[in-house]
Amino acid sequence: MCAAHRLLLRLARPVAACSLALAVAACTTGARSESESPQEGAVCPVPDRLVGTEETGASELPPTMDDLHQAPLLIRGARLIDGSGGDPVAGVDLLIDARGTIAAIERSGTIDAPAGAQVIDVGGRSVLPGLIDAHTHLLSEPEGSYPELVTRTLKESEADRALRGAANAWATLRAGFTTVRNVGGSLADRALRDAIVDGRVPGPRMLVANYSIGITGGHCDHSNSVNPEKLSRDPDFREGIADGPDAVRRAVRYQVKQGADVIKVCATGGVLSQGDGVGAPQLTPAELRAIVDEANRAGRKVAAHAHGNQGIRDAVEAGVHSIEHGSVLDRPTVAQMRRRGVFLVPTTYAGHYVEEAAFGGRLSPDSAAKAKAIAPKMRESFQLAYRSGVKIANGSDAGVFPHGDNARELAEMVALGMTPKDAILAATSRAAELLGLTDIGQLAVGFRGDLLVVDGDPLEDISLLKDPKLVVKDGRVYVRDL
Ligand SMILES: [Zn+2]
Repeated sequence: MCAAHRLLLRLARPVAACSLALAVAACTTGARSESESPQEGAVCPVPDRLVGTEETGASELPPTMDDLHQAPLLIRGARLIDGSGGDPVAGVDLLIDARGTIAAIERSGTIDAPAGAQVIDVGGRSVLPGLIDAHTHLLSEPEGSYPELVTRTLKESEADRALRGAANAWATLRAGFTTVRNVGGSLADRALRDAIVDGRVPGPRMLVANYSIGITGGHCDHSNSVNPEKLSRDPDFREGIADGPDAVRRAVRYQVKQGADVIKVCATGGVLSQGDGVGAPQLTPAELRAIVDEANRAGRKVAAHAHGNQGIRDAVEAGVHSIEHGSVLDRPTVAQMRRRGVFLVPTTYAGHYVEEAAFGGRLSPDSAAKAKAIAPKMRESFQLAYRSGVKIANGSDAGVFPHGDNARELAEMVALGMTPKDAILAATSRAAELLGLTDIGQLAVGFRGDLLVVDGDPLEDISLLKDPKLVVKDGRVYVRDL
C-alpha cells in the first residue's frame, strides 16, 4: 500500500468522486495522479476498502459519500425474495435509478443498462429488501461488567454518545440493516439521524424517539441508584421523566419539539435498570392514555417497553402501537393485541444475551436476578404470541448486545419456532408497516433501492443473513464482498 492510499484510508475524509479509486490505481501503476478527475458519467469502481481486500483489510472503514458514486444501479442474476411473503423468483434483474428508487424488476437480460450505470451480477444469489430493526439503541453498548457500565454512564457526554452512535450506525448498515427505529436514547439520536440523512455519517435510515418517557425512579430514569448530590439536577420532562397525565403530555411535546419521529414509553420496570421490579407497572393507565393521545395529535406512534402482563394490558388498552419485549403474555392479552392490531417487538436475542450475561456475572445482582427470572417467560410469551397470530416486527434491542449482530434476532426467533419466511417478513414488510413507511420493506417498483445479497437460501438457513455479501441503501453500494 502506498502512502497516498494509506493516508486516504486513514483520514476517511471527503474526496472528489472516484479519487480514492484513482489513488489506488496510482499505487499500483504509478501512472495516474490523485488530482485526476473522472469523466462526466464515468462509472467509478467500488473502492478497495468497500470490497475489503486482504491487503488493505479495510472493509471496516466507513465510506464517505463521495466514495458512494450515485449512478443507476443494475443488479443482474438475482434470486428475488421480495419481502411480500411470496415464493422466491430466480433469474431476475433489478434497476435502481440515480435517485435511489427501484425503477424496474424484470426477467434477466431484458433490462438494458442505462448510460453510466453500475452493473453488478450477483450470480443467482438471494436478494432481499434491506432489513429493518424496529428496536435499537445506537448510542448504547454493553460493558464487560456492571461497574464499568456505571463508570461510563457517569463520565460520558452527549458528544461521546453521538460519536459512539456514528460507529454503531456504520456497524448496523454493514450488517444489512438499512432502516432502524431507535427507541430510547437522547437528543444525540436526532443528531445522528440527521447526519445520516445529510450524508455526513454512513448508517441506516433512522426513526428516533430521543428520550424515552417514564416515571421518576422507573426503567427510563437513568439516575436510579446514583447519588443525587452528585447530579446537578434530577432528570425532568426534557429527559423524559415525568409524573402525572399533564406532565407526561409535556414530555411528549418536548420530544416532538426536539424532532422525535416516534414516542417510546416505559410502561413497566426493566431488567437493566436498578431498583425497579421487572414486571411492575410504572406509568399509570391515565398517564399512558395521555401519552398516546398527545402522540397521536402530533402524528407519532407510541412504542411501549413492557415486560409484566398488567403493564402490557394497560399499554394496549391505552392504544400504543407496539409492545416491546412483551415478556409475560397470557392468552387474554394476546387476544387483545391481535384484536387491536398491536405489534409485538420480541427482542428475543437480547433476552438470551442478557440471560448469559447474568450467569456470567456481568450484571449487577439486581439485574442478574431479574434476567434469570424473565428470560424463560420471554421465550414462552413469544411462542404464544406467534402461534396466536399477533403481528410481529423484528426488533433486536441492539445496544444491549454489540451492534452489527442484529440478524441474530432473526436466528433466535427461528430457533424458537418461527419459520424463516415469517422471520424475513418480520424484518421487512411487517416492520415497515409498524414504522409507517410505505416505500421500504419490499423490493418492488417505486420502493427505495435498499437491498442485501446473501449466499445460499435464507428461507432454508436464516443464519445466512448474518453475512451479507452486498449492502445497498438508496441505490448506493455500501458493502461489496462478491
Ligand atoms: Zn430497548
